[in-house]
Amino acid sequence: MSIHLILQEVFGYGAFRGPQQAIIEHVVMGGDALVLMPTGGGKSLCYQIPAIAREQAGQGITIVISPLIALMHDQVGALHEAGVSAEFLNSTLSSEQAQAIEKRLMRGDITLLYAAPERVSNPRFLAQLDSLNERGRLSLFAIDEAHCVSQWGHDFRPEYRALSVLHERFANVPRIALTATADALTRADIVERLQLQEAKLFVSSFDRPNISYTIVEKAQATQQLLRFILREHMGDAGIVYCQSRKRVEEIAEMLCDEGIAALPYHAGLDVKVRQANQDQFLRSEGIVMVATIAFGMGIDKPDVRFVAHLDMPKNIEGYYQETGRAGRDGAPADAWMCYGLQDVVNQRRMIDESPAGEEFKQGLRSKLDALLGLAEATDCRRVRLLAYFDEASKPCGNCDNCLQPPAVWDGTDAARKLLSTIYRVQQMGGISYGAGHIMDILRGKTTEKVTQRGHETLSTFGIGADLSELQLRGVLRQLIAIGAVAVDAQAFNTLQLTDGSRAVLKGDVAVQLRQSSATPAERKAKRSTPSSTAKAPTTLDADGQNRFLALKAWRAEVAKEHNLPAYVIFHDATLAAIAELAPQSLDDLQGITGIGAKKLEAYGQEVLRVVALMPEGSA
Ligand code: ADP
Ligand code: ZN
Repeated sequence: MSIHLILQEVFGYGAFRGPQQAIIEHVVMGGDALVLMPTGGGKSLCYQIPAIAREQAGQGITIVISPLIALMHDQVGALHEAGVSAEFLNSTLSSEQAQAIEKRLMRGDITLLYAAPERVSNPRFLAQLDSLNERGRLSLFAIDEAHCVSQWGHDFRPEYRALSVLHERFANVPRIALTATADALTRADIVERLQLQEAKLFVSSFDRPNISYTIVEKAQATQQLLRFILREHMGDAGIVYCQSRKRVEEIAEMLCDEGIAALPYHAGLDVKVRQANQDQFLRSEGIVMVATIAFGMGIDKPDVRFVAHLDMPKNIEGYYQETGRAGRDGAPADAWMCYGLQDVVNQRRMIDESPAGEEFKQGLRSKLDALLGLAEATDCRRVRLLAYFDEASKPCGNCDNCLQPPAVWDGTDAARKLLSTIYRVQQMGGISYGAGHIMDILRGKTTEKVTQRGHETLSTFGIGADLSELQLRGVLRQLIAIGAVAVDAQAFNTLQLTDGSRAVLKGDVAVQLRQSSATPAERKAKRSTPSSTAKAPTTLDADGQNRFLALKAWRAEVAKEHNLPAYVIFHDATLAAIAELAPQSLDDLQGITGIGAKKLEAYGQEVLRVVALMPEGSA
């Protein structure tokens, strides 16, 4: 079959997306490839279609390296639904099951085999691959989540280093490596570690136009989060990222108390509980997962409507990867983050206290600075994000700064007052103080600590009385963000001047600040109306909505029977297209996006039956 026919017949899609066709053609011909495509861009087809095409041409099996044992079952299940012969080998199988699959592997009746990276260190498995290779039956290696090989990526997996065996031992077998994150540094590292110097590089646009970005200043984080969900995402599936396990538990509980179906996920939970929560998130609708960054890689749930960060991530790669889990289906989705002074201090401290070498720490610091720059930005967030991945763009019209340009004020003068206070206090007693005390002096407060130390006699005492504490915090945050003030974690978080302070003190650097607002302004009128849990697309008429809900109920039953997430059976978009078309025959069904030959055969009649139960005019 031609690759177009495979796309249509097997996957039910009408056209390739972006660079998919070029990538697939290259790999089918036996070329190596490194594919950088954002989450939701459609990476899977880039190796699945070549695997099918090459198998049909007698070239044998494709081995897919995937770090996510917990998700292999669903990935393989999705291929079965499409009628593709696929299996996985990992530690969840019994030895009988594994042996049965190994037998089929050697017989050559599997098209795609998913395996965890540690498997390639297994001598027995390698010997089997050798044997296949000798018979010309080892077609392709696909290395998913390839950034895991790099310590610069945010999910470094030492097991990935073992993948060097692939090019060393099976030099003749083509390889395709895929990732959704790779800044220049990580990219170079992947190429070197996996010996992909000769591979053709395919870089897609990293823009995710359907995701709207919002970053708000932290005031009362939990209340802000609650308002955000209640106002804009009731009944939606979403992910809330928190820094610590404790916080994950607290927030999940708080959301449940407020009537939002939330579950916790972090590495400290029992493996069984973690897996059960993940399954429920994937298989039920409208669950909010509250998680540490341990959650999410490889989660391909297409209808996640929001990703919220309650604490700031470490860098833009992490932020982009995590927010990228929203809206894979292409429908509108939100990326919402709230961040404050404490986030900046915490992240800096974690870097300072890490046992890494100084050069490595410097790398981490500049990555953090880029994220701080994004958070403090007063111009288009998307332009900044894409610029970070070396992509030029125009203001997007779909981020907070575009939709509601923030008021800015000139904080240069305030910044100088703050810096000179830090300087004077240090001069006077030879020791430094924390943010609270410095701000008390500036605002002319005669606290006990101030009078005890005689700080009311400083020339800067009270010169910032016209500034609110919120404003001063904003100034300080930005000064820390640009490196003009350092926070000494080893000495009670005291504030220190740095080499960067001088330029600000001399007035060489202007400090432009976002106008602080304790309660963030109401957002744009939203397209989604908060509603009950069962939602139907508002683009459908009343009959269509009824059909959609009936189809959804039918899909839930099928998914349960097959022990797979509902979207593996059909995406919402496919159900919506069926509901709109109200097909009367299999012919009508054919050609709807997402209905391949196997699914048409397996489900066509049932779908027609469900549609017939809800005829026009029944609403
Ligand atoms: P990634 O792995 O890059 O995050 P996936 O491979 O999971 O993305 O694809 C994202 C979604 O887009 C999936 O639901 C997939 O079925 C769908 N998709 C991929 N390619 C196409 C296409 N050419 N036409 C329609 N849908 C597609
Ligand atoms: Zn914008």
